[in-house]
Amino acid sequence: MPVKTSPYDLTEIFQNEEVGKAKPSKILFKLYKGHWGKLALSVFFYIIKSSPVWILPMITANVINIATEPEDHRLSDFLVNFLIILIVILQNIPMHTVHVHFYSRALRHVEAGLRATLVRKLQHLSIGYYGELGAGRIQSKVLRDVEAIEMLSRQIMLGLMPAAINLLIAVVLTAAQSLTVTIFFVFTVPVSVGFIYLFRNKINKTNREFRTSIEEMSGKVSEMVEMIPVTRAYGLEEWEIQKMDAKLDKIKKKGYQLDILEGYFQSSNWVTFQVFQVFCLFFTAYLAYQGKMPVGDIVMYQGYFTMILGAVGGILNVYPIIMKGFESIYSVTEILLSHETENFRGKKFPSELKGHIRFDHVSFKYPNSERHAVKDFHLEVKPGETVALVGESGSGKSTLLHLIIGFYKAQGGNVYIDGIPIHEIDIKKYRRSLAIVLQENILFSGTIRDNITYGLPGVDEEKLKSVIAMANLLELIERLPAGLDTRVGEHGSKLSGGQKQRIAIARALIRDPKIIILDEATASLDNKSEKLVQDAIEKLKKGRTTFIVAHRLSTIRSADRIVVMDKGRMVETGSYDELMERKGKFYELQKISMA
Ligand code: ADP
Repeated sequence: MPVKTSPYDLTEIFQNEEVGKAKPSKILFKLYKGHWGKLALSVFFYIIKSSPVWILPMITANVINIATEPEDHRLSDFLVNFLIILIVILQNIPMHTVHVHFYSRALRHVEAGLRATLVRKLQHLSIGYYGELGAGRIQSKVLRDVEAIEMLSRQIMLGLMPAAINLLIAVVLTAAQSLTVTIFFVFTVPVSVGFIYLFRNKINKTNREFRTSIEEMSGKVSEMVEMIPVTRAYGLEEWEIQKMDAKLDKIKKKGYQLDILEGYFQSSNWVTFQVFQVFCLFFTAYLAYQGKMPVGDIVMYQGYFTMILGAVGGILNVYPIIMKGFESIYSVTEILLSHETENFRGKKFPSELKGHIRFDHVSFKYPNSERHAVKDFHLEVKPGETVALVGESGSGKSTLLHLIIGFYKAQGGNVYIDGIPIHEIDIKKYRRSLAIVLQENILFSGTIRDNITYGLPGVDEEKLKSVIAMANLLELIERLPAGLDTRVGEHGSKLSGGQKQRIAIARALIRDPKIIILDEATASLDNKSEKLVQDAIEKLKKGRTTFIVAHRLSTIRSADRIVVMDKGRMVETGSYDELMERKGKFYELQKISMA
């Protein structure tokens, strides 16, 4: 199934290497490519919709001037001013809606686009990368970071842009009326900005400390919840509670510090602005007193000065959100620009896959590890053969399975599938001929039917029935009130280990794979359940190349060949009887497990 391109897909932007070196503001700029028309229209309608704010001080001045100088005005002047301001105020509703319409279209599109692009990238990253990054961090990138970027764009449109426009218009309008007052305004603004800026830095620091303690705590809470069964079993509740209490106490103190600092900041802020405002009042009143301007203009300049200070405050308020958004842009691009995608991009595929697998002196080391997990491994497996992998924990059995699936690329030697080197084969087609049944099988929260037919829409009902019978699931499904359409709960929480495993076997069977990868469940199953699973596995294996990480004697015995692993190397290979006779590593392992 080819992945449909989404109308939101932004992958193209991140295919350019240069993006990695770009500043976050530039990346943001690129994200909005194709939306600039909408944003410009939004700004245009913003200016129209907020015109009452600039016109009102003028009208107020006019009205006061008419009232205080009746000899120079007519009564109808009131009416003209009244009508103008009424119309200017009423247009706000439709114009505001149009303003929101344009920016929201652009913002929501980019938000969906970022998530769609992340989802696409996540589906193509190498398995190793997920292990390193962890599910929690990935989730936070797709949800929280994209939200922070959306918030950043929103704040630019709703905080920064209006503040800048207000500032500009207030200064221009003032300059058009009186140069003296403009000089006074221009003088006071940098002083207040400087003052606030100094304070901000301290607040930002405390804020960050507070945030990290909160993040630390949420990590601890989820760990605590996961640990509860263990904690309870060891009777360590009190100890855990005390540990948590210490964390909470730290947060309480930090939070208090922050509140006080913010309170101090807010009041100082308010006082600074008020003092400047009062200066402005007396300065303009003095000019009016000297007859240099009409009395009403005092009110007008007060209005403009309030606008200017409000704009300055607004810009400073947006600052931390912008910084947070920039951080999130970095965080998201970390994934979007990652080169750790799947290594295999081959195109070859045999007309019919037989399931012949050859390891040719394969060596593999995990990226973060010093030691080889698999070393100089050589093995040829014929179609339909069953190979049991045996060895102590950490001897490299699972790594071998990962190499067959193509999750990792060998550093030395190569794996050949039907004679084709694995990096040259069409890996997606290949994996569709491969089925995996693990100890812990991953089910998703849907029905049993959904879980069996995962990714195969429109499966024939007859085929489904035969698969269910082969996987020994008939009895279970008949017992359930909703049968096949019973929901399994999140991660299959409503099912037992053996039931989940049989569903995974059915999922494998329905695909009619050529190669089977099995990690045999060990002690987690009771005898009856084990028998049912074992029986289903036997049916699954028939006629297919099978690799089993084997623990049970019955499985080991029934394998065509046993491969004994030790520290990443194959130390012995042969049938059960041969190996027992040789009295080597296998013999020792069997002795231990039987003891
Ligand atoms: P087995 O399946 O036989 O228990 P594995 O194949 O899981 O063994 O592990 C082989 C070796 O590789 C071990 O030393 C293990 O610690 C190491 N290993 C396994 N997975 C990783 C990983 N993701 N990163 C680093 N080392 C790993």
